[in-house]
Amino acid sequence: AAIVALIGRPNVGKSTLFNRMTRSRKAIVDPTPGVTRDRHYDRVEWKERSFILVDTGGIDERGGDVMAGSIRSQALAAAEEADVILLLLDAKQGLVPADYEVVELLRRVQKKILYVVNKIDGPEQEQELLLPFYELGVEPLWVVSAEHNYGFATLMDGLVEQLPAEAAPLHLPDQTVRVAFLGRPNVGKSSMINRIIGAERMVVSPVSGTTRDSVDTLLSHKDRHYLLIDTAGIRRKGKTTEKLEKFSILKALSALERCDIAVVMLDAEEGLTEQDTKIIGYTQEQGRALILLVNKWDLVADDRKRQQQILEEIGRAVPFVGFAPLLTVSALSGYGFKRLFPVIGAVYRQFTATFPTAALNRLLTDAVAHHSPPIYKNKRLKFYYTTQLSSRPPTFVVMSNSSKGVHFSYQRYLVNRYREGLGLDRVPLRLIFKDKAQ
Ligand code: GDP
Repeated sequence: AAIVALIGRPNVGKSTLFNRMTRSRKAIVDPTPGVTRDRHYDRVEWKERSFILVDTGGIDERGGDVMAGSIRSQALAAAEEADVILLLLDAKQGLVPADYEVVELLRRVQKKILYVVNKIDGPEQEQELLLPFYELGVEPLWVVSAEHNYGFATLMDGLVEQLPAEAAPLHLPDQTVRVAFLGRPNVGKSSMINRIIGAERMVVSPVSGTTRDSVDTLLSHKDRHYLLIDTAGIRRKGKTTEKLEKFSILKALSALERCDIAVVMLDAEEGLTEQDTKIIGYTQEQGRALILLVNKWDLVADDRKRQQQILEEIGRAVPFVGFAPLLTVSALSGYGFKRLFPVIGAVYRQFTATFPTAALNRLLTDAVAHHSPPIYKNKRLKFYYTTQLSSRPPTFVVMSNSSKGVHFSYQRYLVNRYREGLGLDRVPLRLIFKDKAQ
């Protein structure tokens, strides 16, 4: 999907506009622990078009700092990764030197840019407040009130017109397992994919649908088809790439949309970074299956202590993905990589598994008999039935007399019973609790 980046100084109204653009979507009740509330990207739909909106101010950790450097790095990242850039300016504060600087910078990039003047609440304010902004020498200027909706629909219409044409959908063989390789620059994504492609008994066919953000490879191996999505695939010439590591997240977002399994690669020598944790969190927000590959294991092969340290570090930093298989590998030497395909196969089977309602109901009755549900507001919690809502990830709905009364520890108990009972130990699993009308 196309990526639209929202940039601007702190307090110009980025989050307000972000919320207005994304809020038409209904909230998903999701008890998955580790799913962050405070998200800085979301899918936006407007008149049959859709895109991923990213608030780069939110991604940039130094949020709240008014330094020109902060917006500069947002602008560079957006220039690199996004399809359309929205530069938000503040009519109430007027122009400041940082605005000139960022406009100057954007002038030099080959991207669609919308210059948006925010905090203009109605036509009567427009004339007076907008005037100074013509000094920037960019046109047109879009006028909006993120808070009061003025100009919003016009802006959205103008925005979707700038989106690149949708890529033709890939025609993949049925049951193709789509695997995205994610991770920071230089963690070894391309090396790993090259090793896979070069391995014996892998039949590689070219894919025409390669996107701007990634390079795809279609593989057949033992009667199964795999689409490998390499998010590092397209190398950029600029020197900026190194510095923009934290924004490799934008590419990850777009690849996550079209995969079943996210393979997140970590660097054994460098250990887990904040960025890695974030990417892992995003895989779970999107409900993808996850495999952790700790690469460059050759570099720590003789260091038992370091090995243990890394594994502990991972366990501590991302406890919410305890189900994800973890493999230690070396793309360089080939160590460990033979285990990858069997693991992908096993994960995919679980990820796509479906279960008959009768079996699920037996499981629920059993679970409740073994551990009675808590009392909530003087009433014992009752469960009526359960059924599978979807696969990818396996998602089940559980009907009760009071979904609010299913406190966290009982949720966790049930999730564990479902995992054990259904053999779903290596994938994310969702239980959605609902009230049965009484
Ligand atoms: P990408 O940006 O994630 O695609 O990373 P690359 O595949 O381009 O690898 C970055 C650098 O790390 C290259 O110099 C690789 O040779 C090196 N590299 C990749 N995998 C390994 C590994 O398992 N061990 C060691 N020692 N180096 C590796």
